[in-house]
Amino acid sequence: MIKENISNILKDIPEGTSLVAVSKFHPFSSIVEAYEAGQRIFAESRPQELSKKVAELEANPLPGLEWQFIGHLQTNKLKMVLPYVSLVQSVDSVHLLEEIDKWGKVNGKVIEVLLEMHVAEEETKQGFYEEEILDILFRVAAARQDGKKEPYPNIRFRGLMGMATNTDDEEIIRADFARLADFMDYLKDLFTEIPEFSELSIGMSGDWKIAVEYGSTMVRIGTAIFGERQY
Ligand SMILES: *Cc1c(COP(=O)(O)O)cnc(C)c1O
Repeated sequence: MIKENISNILKDIPEGTSLVAVSKFHPFSSIVEAYEAGQRIFAESRPQELSKKVAELEANPLPGLEWQFIGHLQTNKLKMVLPYVSLVQSVDSVHLLEEIDKWGKVNGKVIEVLLEMHVAEEETKQGFYEEEILDILFRVAAARQDGKKEPYPNIRFRGLMGMATNTDDEEIIRADFARLADFMDYLKDLFTEIPEFSELSIGMSGDWKIAVEYGSTMVRIGTAIFGERQY
């Protein structure tokens, strides 16, 4: 099942769009199954669960497997997450950026991040507003232009992550993705000093086909690969 689900999704995503398998609430055995089907990038949303799976992976190594983090990250949990992941997709506050940068400095690691942007209608969803993202990138670009020290030297800003409103109304989902995609285009034009800011992580099980139409470079898919969450 997992294998078929992955190959069906891969058939429909364009080359250059990566598939991130969201393994949260699924057992390590499901990760092994996906890995055997060729999947290499996995994402978790809770530090505790990531730690548990990192330990399982140490006992049963799967060469080339890469973790990403996609959940709300509290600053007191950084050490549970940052040593193990290649990308934090869910950076949603300046305070968190500052703490990640400090952690990176102390631990000699440059952390790749996406800035999570708030577009959904739900108030509960996390994320930055457009002005905040502009402000962060302006400061990075200005420092590069002037050859000065960057504001977050231990962070590499790789792009935007967003979630559409949780609704069956396709028009609303399209409007949310359009806003993210348009803003991404605008940022890429504006900040030529930050060429690595190029990823647009949009699309989940229910809406990834739409997200791909709006230029998604990473789809984050759980349920459509692994089935309903198991715990
Ligand atoms: C859980 C989660 C996903 C995957 O959700 P599915 O609907 O199961 O595909 C994607 N992105 C984020 C940020 C998530 O928390």
